[in-house]
Amino acid sequence: MSTKKEKTERPTDQQPLKVTAPEQVAGGLSAITQSARHVYSEVGIVEGTRLLSRINQFEGFDCPGCAWPDPDNHRSAVEFCENGAKAVAEEATTAKADAAFFRKHAVEELSGWTDYEIGKSGRITEPMICRKGKTHYEPIGWAEAFQIIGQQLRQLGSPDEAVFYTSGRTSNEAAFLYQLFVRQYGTNNLPDCSNMCHESSGTGLSETLGIGKGSVKLEDFYQAEVIMIMGQNPGTNHPRMLTALEMAKKNGAKIVSVNPLPEAGLIRFKHPQQPLSLLGKGTVLTDIFLQIRLNADVPLLKALMKMLLEKENQQPGTVLDHAFIQSQTSGYEALVADLNQYDLEALISQTGITKEQLEETAALLATRQKIIVCWAMGLTQHENGVDNVREIVNLLLLKGSIGKPGAGTCPVRGHSNVQGDRTMGIWEKLKPAFAQRLQEVFQFEPPQKDGYDVLHAIQAMAEGKVKFFMGLGGNFLSATPDTNHTAKALEQCLMTVQVSTKLNRSHLVHGKTALILPCLGRTEWDLQNSGFQFLSVENSTGVVHQTQGNKQPASPYLLSEPKIVAELAKATLGSNTTVDWELMVSNYDHIRVAIEKTIPGFEHYNERVRQPGGFYLPNSARVGNFQTETGKALFTLNKNPDHILADDDFLMMTIRSHDQYNTTIYGLHDRYRGVHYQRRVVLMNESDMTDMHVKNEDFVHLYSYYDGVERVARDFQVVAYQIPRQCVATYFPEANVLIPANRSARKSNQPISKSVVVKIRRTE
Ligand code: SF4
Repeated sequence: MSTKKEKTERPTDQQPLKVTAPEQVAGGLSAITQSARHVYSEVGIVEGTRLLSRINQFEGFDCPGCAWPDPDNHRSAVEFCENGAKAVAEEATTAKADAAFFRKHAVEELSGWTDYEIGKSGRITEPMICRKGKTHYEPIGWAEAFQIIGQQLRQLGSPDEAVFYTSGRTSNEAAFLYQLFVRQYGTNNLPDCSNMCHESSGTGLSETLGIGKGSVKLEDFYQAEVIMIMGQNPGTNHPRMLTALEMAKKNGAKIVSVNPLPEAGLIRFKHPQQPLSLLGKGTVLTDIFLQIRLNADVPLLKALMKMLLEKENQQPGTVLDHAFIQSQTSGYEALVADLNQYDLEALISQTGITKEQLEETAALLATRQKIIVCWAMGLTQHENGVDNVREIVNLLLLKGSIGKPGAGTCPVRGHSNVQGDRTMGIWEKLKPAFAQRLQEVFQFEPPQKDGYDVLHAIQAMAEGKVKFFMGLGGNFLSATPDTNHTAKALEQCLMTVQVSTKLNRSHLVHGKTALILPCLGRTEWDLQNSGFQFLSVENSTGVVHQTQGNKQPASPYLLSEPKIVAELAKATLGSNTTVDWELMVSNYDHIRVAIEKTIPGFEHYNERVRQPGGFYLPNSARVGNFQTETGKALFTLNKNPDHILADDDFLMMTIRSHDQYNTTIYGLHDRYRGVHYQRRVVLMNESDMTDMHVKNEDFVHLYSYYDGVERVARDFQVVAYQIPRQCVATYFPEANVLIPANRSARKSNQPISKSVVVKIRRTE
C-alpha cells in the first residue's frame, strides 16, 4: 500500500458524542497507555522511545508543552507527563504535509476540516506560498520567499502597518533576534500569546510587587503549609505539577482548590512512574474543594480576608503578619477600611460556596504562614482579571506570605517559553531602560510609540491600518477571540506569513498573499555554519536552561527560527541595519552574548546556560525586595465584578480538553471529564437543563450579544455536568466565535474568555 496516499488522505475520526462518568483520579495506568499510544502511533516504537528518554533531561530537549519547571539538581529517567508525550508525538510525527498534499487539497477544502484533522496532516516539508487569487499553496524556494516578504515590508507606507506575533514556543535566541529585527525595521507591533493568557498577571503583579513574574521556586512547594490553586486545571494543562503537589502533601501541606468544575487532577493523583502508586488508590490532593461560581474570586478572597481580620481582632497578633505589613507594605489601613464596607453574607452568597467551607478555609489560613497561591486563566481572562490577581496579592500580604521560603505567587504559565519571550523583549510596550540598552548595544534609535497587542492588532487589521501579519509560531486565528471578526481582519491583509512546523487554521484563513515558512522543531538537531547549536528557554519559575534536539529534521529544507528571522532581517533591512545577522546565526553563542549585553540577569549567559539545569534569573519579589514606586508591596482596593444575568443568561467559560494543548488538538477524548469524540459540547448544570427542557446530547445554539452584535456558535450538544447554576463551559477554540474582541480586562486588555454572557436556545 502506498504510504504517500495514506498521508494525503483526510485523517477524519468522527464518531457520535459519547458521555461517560467523569474520572476521580488523574495519572495512573491510563496516562501511561495514552502516552505510549500517541507517541508510538505517530513516531514508531524505536524512535518514540528514544525521544521520550530525552524530554526535559539535562542534555535533552525542553518539553514543547507547558512551562512547568523541572527539578533543579537532578532528573529522573522519566521527566514528562502524558501531555508532554503527546506534544512530542505531534511534533515528531512521520506524517508529512508535503507538496503533493498541498497540490491535492485546495485551501478552501482544508478550511472545512476540523482543527483535529488539520493538525493530523503532518509536518510541512518546504516553504509554501498561496499567491494572490490562487486556490492552492505551492512550493517556493527560501530565497524567493524572503525576497517577496522583504519587498512587501519595504513597500508598506509605515513600519506600523506590519504586525509581528510570537507564540510561546519560540526560544530565547529566536525571540531576541525577532524583536531586534522588528525594532530595527521601525515598529513595536509585537503582540504575543502572553496578551491572551497571563497579561493580567503581569500587570497586577508589576503594580503591587514590582515584578510581573511569579515569586516561587519548585522547592517552595515542598516547604509550603497551604497551597491554594485557583482557576487552574493542572491535571490537563500542567500535569507534572501534580507530582509537586503530591510531594507537598507528603510534607504536610494542605491544598485548597478553587474551581467551578471538580477536575480529576485536583481530586486525586496516581503517580504514573511509581508502581506502588499505580496499584493503590492514589494520593488525595485536595483537602478543601471550593466549587466557585464563574468569576466570583474577588468576593471569595474578600470573604476570606474579612474572616481573617475577624480572627485577628479576636486574638490580636496571631493571624496577620504585622511586622511584615508595617515594614514591607503600604495601603493596609485603606484595605481594612474598604473590606469593612462589604457585607460578609453577601460576599459568601456571590461565591456559591457554603459559609462552613469558607470558615474551614479561613481557619486553615489563619494558622499558617507559608502560603502559595497558584492560578491560571480562570483568574486572568475576565474584565476584572487584574483585580483578581491584585486581590490574591492582598491575601498573601496580610499573611506576610511573599519573599520567604514556602510562600508566594505562582501564575502558572501555559506555553513552554512564554515567559522567556517576554524577558527577551517581545512586548508591544518598549520599556525605557530596555530601549536605552538596545540603543547603546546596537547603535540605533528604537521606535518609542507603543505597538499593538493582540486585540489592538485585530482591530487595526480590521480597520485596514495593518496590512502585513507575521506569526513566529502559533495559530493566531484559533488562539484569539471573535473568530469570524478576526478571520475577516486577517483576510484584509496584503500578506500573511506563518513560521510553523505543522498546518493550522491560520494558514487557511489568510491575506491576499500567504506564505508558510517551515521551521525545525524542538526535537530536531539544528546545524549551522559552526556546528550543532542548542537553544535556551525560561520556565514558569524563571530558570533559564538549554534545550537541544538530536533527531533528524522532518525535511532537509527546514530552517531554524533564528535563521529564518536573520534571513528575513537581511532581506528587509538590506544595508540599513547595525546587526551582523550572518554572524549571529553562525553560532548562537553570538546571540547569547548580545542578550547578555542588553538584558540584566544574563551575565555569563553562555557559561551558565551550559551548566546542567541552567540558572535562575534574579527575582526581586522572591527575596522580599519590592521594586514598586514606593519601594513597598502595595495593598490595592478591588471592586466586586458585577455580572447582572437575566434568567435565561449563562456565564460561559472556555476550557481545554485533556487531548488538547492550547490550539493543538491531539485527539477527540476529554477522558477525565468523560466527553468523547465530539468537541462541540456545552457542559451544563442539570437543574438548568431541566428548566430549559433539554437533556443530555440535545443540540443547541449559543448566542452572545455585545454592543448590538449577535454572535452565534451553532450545533453544540448538551452534557450534564457538575457545574454551578447559570454557568456553562465550552471548548476553546470552538466557542471563540462568541467572545467579543472589543471587551477585555481593564488595564491588561486580555480577552474575557472565562466570563462571556451567553444565551442558549434549542435547535428547531
Ligand atoms: S508538565 Fe508541562 S513541561 Fe512538563 S512534561 Fe508535562 S506538558 Fe511538558
